[in-house]
Amino acid sequence: MSLTQKQNAYIKAAVRKASLTSPERKAVLDKACIGQKLNLKTNRMSKHYECAHCKHHFPLKRVQVDHISPIVPLSGWDSWEELFDRMFNGEMQVLCVECHSVKSKAEALERRSKSS
Ligand SMILES: [Zn+2]
Repeated sequence: MSLTQKQNAYIKAAVRKASLTSPERKAVLDKACIGQKLNLKTNRMSKHYECAHCKHHFPLKRVQVDHISPIVPLSGWDSWEELFDRMFNGEMQVLCVECHSVKSKAEALERRSKSS
């Protein structure tokens, strides 16, 4: 398959979006759910989730489901088949927005250093 970088990015975003409603992702969230807690921002009770890294508890809006080994490997692009496999069957964890951003930035740096 030969695609431009733009088409590639477009498909990747679409697949990522589709994976947001996957049963696999929901199971990971359910497992990290610690029950109802007072959301200090809204002053309402809401489900909270434990971040796998910092172990703090956050409402749904402040957590993200992370692929433990990134869906685009640090060694660089391999194939769509591998990407789909990792996206839907790869091991996932719940991270808070802050921890996820630190991890993603570190992965991007590593990827860049390997490709140059
Ligand atoms: Zn965290």
